[in-house]
Order: sequence, then C-alpha cells, then structure tokens
Amino acid sequence: MNFFSLPKIDLHCHLDGSVRPQTIIDLAQIQSLSLPSNNVEVVRELMIAPETCSDLTEYLTRFDLPLQVMQTEHALERISYEVFEDAAKENVKYLEVRFAPLLHVTQGLTIQQIIAAVVKGMKRAERDYDIHGNYILCILRTMTKERINEVIEEGAKWLGNGVQAFDLAGAELPGFCHDFIEYTHYARSKGFHVTIHAGEQGDGQNVQDAVQLLHAERVGHGIHIINHNGGYAAVKNNRIGLETCPSSNVQTKAVNDLQSHPAKRFYEQGLAITINTDNRTVSNTTMTQEVQKVCELFSLSAEDYRIIYLNSVEQSFASHDVKNYLRQCIDE
Ligand SMILES: [Zn+2]
Repeated sequence: MNFFSLPKIDLHCHLDGSVRPQTIIDLAQIQSLSLPSNNVEVVRELMIAPETCSDLTEYLTRFDLPLQVMQTEHALERISYEVFEDAAKENVKYLEVRFAPLLHVTQGLTIQQIIAAVVKGMKRAERDYDIHGNYILCILRTMTKERINEVIEEGAKWLGNGVQAFDLAGAELPGFCHDFIEYTHYARSKGFHVTIHAGEQGDGQNVQDAVQLLHAERVGHGIHIINHNGGYAAVKNNRIGLETCPSSNVQTKAVNDLQSHPAKRFYEQGLAITINTDNRTVSNTTMTQEVQKVCELFSLSAEDYRIIYLNSVEQSFASHDVKNYLRQCIDE
C-alpha cells in the first residue's frame, strides 16, 4: 500500500498539539514574545514529547509553548488553516480538530471570537484544498466548571457551520463522568455530538460511564476496556467509535509498546476502530505514519484498511453529503 496517497480521515487531532514549530517562532515575533530559542529545531524539540513520557501529565507540558502564542484571533486563524493544510497535503480528506476555547482567553478574547477564528481558518483551507473538516470543543476536566455552559452556548451558534461536538479532555481521574453529567446533557440538548477521552489513563469503568452516563457516541482512546467487561460491552453493544492514536498511546504509556496495543484485537472483534494522530507536532507524527505503523505492525491488508477508513466515515460527525463524498474517495 502507498500510505501517503491513500485517502485518510483523522477524527482525533488537537489544535494546540499540532502547531508548526516555525509558526510558533513567527507568531512570537509578531506578538513580541520571547521564546527559549528562535531556532526551529530547538523549538521543535521543546514541543515533541519524548518517546515515552513518565505519564500523561508530562506529555501535556508540551502544550505550554504553543498556548502562549495562541491568544489572538490572527494566530488562531493561521494555526487552524495550517493544520488543515498539512493534513490535506498528505491526503487526509476529512479532519476533526478539537481544542479548548477556555485555554485561549488569557489576553481577553471572547469565546465567540476564539471559535470564529478557528472556524475561519478551517474554511479558508477547505476552499484551498480537497479537505473537509469540523471542530470539536473540549473542556479540560481540571478546569473550574463556571464557564462550561458559556462554551456550550457560544459553540452552539456554530453547530452545523464548523462545530459539531463536545469533548472532555486532559488528566483522567476515576469516576470523572459523574461530575459532568449536567454539562454533557446540556450540550446534547443544544445539538452537540459527544465524544469523551476515556480509558486512556483511567480504567474501562470510565468508558462505561462515558457511554452510559454521558451518552458518548465515540471515545477517545478507550484502550482499557481490554480488561473491563462493562466498558467493553458498552462500546461493542452501542457501536461506539474508538478513536485510537497509536503513537500518542505509546508516549503517554497508555500501552507499553505498539505491539501490545489492543487495536488489532478490537478490529478483529468487530469494534469500530479508527486511526488518528492525536497531536501532529507533540506526537511528531502524521496520518500517513500512523496508518503505516498500524498496517505494517499488524499485517493489515488493503481491505482491512478500507474497513477502518469506512469506520471513520461512519463515526465522523460530518454531514450526510460529506460522508457520501468520503465513501467515494476510498472506492476510486
Ligand atoms: Zn486527545
């Protein structure tokens, strides 16, 4: 298989983890911010997480640098455009990017300005390249809860017009879902789809809760249902999409190594596995590399890849028309 030319779909990609190092340098100059270095390779090294971190928390420190420059509408629009551009240039046909608007308010931007800027960048890329996209709005579980409803209300104005879903991200504590029932209920009442990071650091009970309490339609990672019957059954019986991010899962020690990743077993058992980048820069990867790694390591055939691609189409929050287009892409 030529992994570069294959059509690809990325459903799990964080905006702040996918910024080009050179863009950090450019934006820091424009904004008169000083960086530890203006050498692109040094900045790249500061952004890439080690092959294996001590845990997810260490991995998450790699987002500090990009977030410093992502506090203006201009920066957000540019970075959004470039993520879609980079993906389009490796034949990603559909990309769902997620980010937490509340991480971009430190210089006074409103939530409305923040969402408008990233959607504008995405739409500019959609006009320039053969790619479609949508945004997912994240809440970090470690944040105070006072502005969550504001994010939902401002985001709802963009539903069907660049925003499609609601997500909970960041450090994963046992039983976290119980604290967010009212918020995901509110988001769903406004028309948001729901995907939840669960079963990455935490156990399969979090996945079961995400499905049963928060009505998640997809789960970010979900690895630890492998040894939790309730979580596994919730995913299997409800055909919940699993957003697998192979390189990231090794870096954060969600799995010991790629060989022991349960993606192949899940695939063979008929779960709706998808392959995604998580963070193009922080995980130092591309969709081409993620697909290649999984296909080669697990000896997947072109037909296996087609099934996984079609899982991504089915599980995406794209419109009916875009889904039809994406199905055509793999059959050409
Ligand atoms: Zn993630």
